[in-house]
Amino acid sequence: MEASFSKKALVRFKHPRNYEELEEPDGHAIITGPCGDTMEFWLQVDDGIATAVSFITTGCGPSRACGSMATELAEGKTIPEIMRIEQQDILDALDGMPEEHQHCALLASNTLKAAVEDFMKHQQNDKTNAQGSCSACDKDSCSAKNQRQNESLEEFLERQALQERMCHIRHKILVLSGKGGVGKSTVAANLAVSLSLAGKRVGLLDVDIHGPSIPKMFHLEGEAVTNDGDSIVPVEVGDIKVLSIGFFLGNRDDAVIWRGPMKMGVIKQFLKDTAWGELDYLVIDSPPGTGDEPLSVCQLVEDADGAVIVTTPQDVSVADVRRSIRFCQSLRMPVLGVVENMSGFVCPRCGEVTNIFKSGGGEQMALEMGIPFLGRIPLDPQIGEACDAGKPYIHQYARSETAKAFQHAIKPILALDGGPTPSSTITEDIQKMRIAIPIANGQLAMHFGHCEEFALVDVDQAAKCILKTEKVEAPEHQPGLLPRWLAEKGANVIIAGGMGSRAQALFEEQNIHVIIGAPADTVENLVKAFLDGILQSGENICDH
Ligand code: ADP
Repeated sequence: MEASFSKKALVRFKHPRNYEELEEPDGHAIITGPCGDTMEFWLQVDDGIATAVSFITTGCGPSRACGSMATELAEGKTIPEIMRIEQQDILDALDGMPEEHQHCALLASNTLKAAVEDFMKHQQNDKTNAQGSCSACDKDSCSAKNQRQNESLEEFLERQALQERMCHIRHKILVLSGKGGVGKSTVAANLAVSLSLAGKRVGLLDVDIHGPSIPKMFHLEGEAVTNDGDSIVPVEVGDIKVLSIGFFLGNRDDAVIWRGPMKMGVIKQFLKDTAWGELDYLVIDSPPGTGDEPLSVCQLVEDADGAVIVTTPQDVSVADVRRSIRFCQSLRMPVLGVVENMSGFVCPRCGEVTNIFKSGGGEQMALEMGIPFLGRIPLDPQIGEACDAGKPYIHQYARSETAKAFQHAIKPILALDGGPTPSSTITEDIQKMRIAIPIANGQLAMHFGHCEEFALVDVDQAAKCILKTEKVEAPEHQPGLLPRWLAEKGANVIIAGGMGSRAQALFEEQNIHVIIGAPADTVENLVKAFLDGILQSGENICDH
């Protein structure tokens, strides 16, 4: 077996460089990969340059070689240079490595970056002394402080207990789909693994009552869940805390016969009575559809960051997911984006992607509804195999095109945790879009053809942020002029109060997507609601 490793790797198996703990480090991180191996990195930084970088690992030869090479590549480099060290750079520097060990390089590059993030966090804390935890929370503004009208004391205390638990989790992400079998659990599992590999503290809660597949995906079938006092203790896979309704079912059909209130009670109990501890992210694999079960998840997690909606490209799924988006909008649950799964087939022999079903339906619908499109994940036999083997795909085949598609899709979710993320802030890979908004008196002008000026807002749709706002005087009114004029200014979307059908067609001809029926609000509020997927569109008030 040793013959398949390069000389450079073999040397580092026995004599890894920089294999020690650093005293008084400026940055430190420890990550346990889903394979159970742990890597720990330390670094000292002087004047923006890493003067010392070290590591240790519980893994064997390949982990030592990858960790060692990561430290060697990082030494003497600037912080942005270190953040650009990728899995592939480590593998190249080692003259390659057999496929089954390549994930060690991913773990090494992510732990290194997490140590850099730790360094940057300390720097920021020193500057602003800012805190994001419960200790800094203004209790007076907490919705769980006061009993609501029509709420019994028992209900109030329950809500407080739930809030108390959720308060220790910085970001809550719901993964939803219009129906079962579209790959919602696959996306949830790979999202959780990717976040964990990026050094985040992650919980994964599977409340898909009708088809809990998370235990299978992590090889946890038959796992016994323990109790600690009144709390349920989640099962740990690497550093990920996993709890699935599947752990409590003797038989997959058991949950289907439960009555509605029992299902709701169980979902609430999993959120409220589980010892999640301090987490950066809780990923919730929700029941499919738009019925009472996903509704209760959305209502219980009051301060969720938003939902990721998974669909497949066929028209019928797209219609389902359209309902999911409306469902989120009616609950004022931000939609973080749509993932189009099973989009094209990856040939296991040559890797070429063939579109079996038509592709792009999810993307088209996301654009129409003003929702970020997170990307397409092809139908890849390796996903099914990884799932059967109990290893989330992204971990097993980190370098494949499909894994890259997964990684791209989760970027905006990584960015939620603030500060730099391994790739989102360093690379130029942003989803830029220019939104035009007609304004009068500082607000959306209902009749766009007679507005005073236009706001041109550049946004990063993936990271959901405004990059730049520019105001330009509107040209003199001339029928048919505005679509061409805005296309020349690079607009991709126009948000309007009302617009006649002829004008709409002219904009679409110029590839400018039209959103009509928006309320009279400020530019910033409209763009924010658009990026969060909660822009309420009312009636088209245009009468000509
Ligand atoms: P859901 O949670 O929506 O019911 P799952 O995530 O459980 O769906 O996926 C259903 C099945 O489809 C699983 O066997 C899974 O491995 C497989 N699967 C999901 N996405 C893909 C894909 N992109 N390529 C191949 N198989 C996939």
